[in-house]
Amino acid sequence: MSSSAVLEAPAEFRREGALFVISAPSGAGKTTLCKEIIDIFPNLRHSVSYTTRTPRPGEVHGRDYFFVGQDEFSRMVAAGEFAEWAEVHGNFYGTSLKILQEHRAAGIDLILDIDCQGARTLKGRFDGGVYIFILPPTMEELRRRLTGRSSDTAEVIERRIENASSEISQARWYDYIIVNDQFPVAVEQLKSVLIAEQCRTSRVLQGLSSRFKI
Ligand code: ADP
Ligand code: 5GP
Repeated sequence: MSSSAVLEAPAEFRREGALFVISAPSGAGKTTLCKEIIDIFPNLRHSVSYTTRTPRPGEVHGRDYFFVGQDEFSRMVAAGEFAEWAEVHGNFYGTSLKILQEHRAAGIDLILDIDCQGARTLKGRFDGGVYIFILPPTMEELRRRLTGRSSDTAEVIERRIENASSEISQARWYDYIIVNDQFPVAVEQLKSVLIAEQCRTSRVLQGLSSRFKI
């Protein structure tokens, strides 16, 4: 969604927007999971990242990513326009600081599908983020999913599998780990994390301060 769209949270959500940061080795299913839950929560949007990667079939500029050239990406880095950015699997990816700040200020929760390097950067830079790691049930299943997705060349798939082990070793510092084996179960678990975090005292108190003396 465009960063210029009008942002206004429903009255019951008048608090700072939460950041739900999701990482996983490529192919674990986080894009599919995020798409599944995004419509369930009226106050939740997907943070659209910038990338130098070429679009996959079916991907839409501004919906899946903002696809930009290397020069534009480098300009944005130099101008401090990213909340975080990283090189992942040979391409550059970054989260717009403006989009993130606008949503937080408007009380809209954001779900960010970003790699472990970017997640680390955000953890050091912003308070109150919720860090969720998605695992595949096995490495064999991860390979099957990457191959079955039919969107990457064999070389790209090999590079993603080679990177998976070091990414998985990062899971231990995340707040939650969801094993995406049976898809409906993983969806329920992700939903549960979001619901629980939206009920976290520190968040709810912000929204209630105008109504009650707590
Ligand atoms: P990621 O965004 O983590 O790289 P995707 O969401 O693109 O991964 O999923 C990779 C592939 O695995 C897709 O073809 C998707 O349909 C499939 N997939 C996702 N979750 C499951 C699951 N629980 N069981 C089987 N296949 C899955
Ligand atoms: P893909 O090319 O499969 O869409 O994404 C590759 C990897 O880049 C995934 O791990 C994804 O989470 C990560 N990624 C996507 N957007 C961003 C971003 O804005 N910042 C960072 N650090 N990683 C991102």
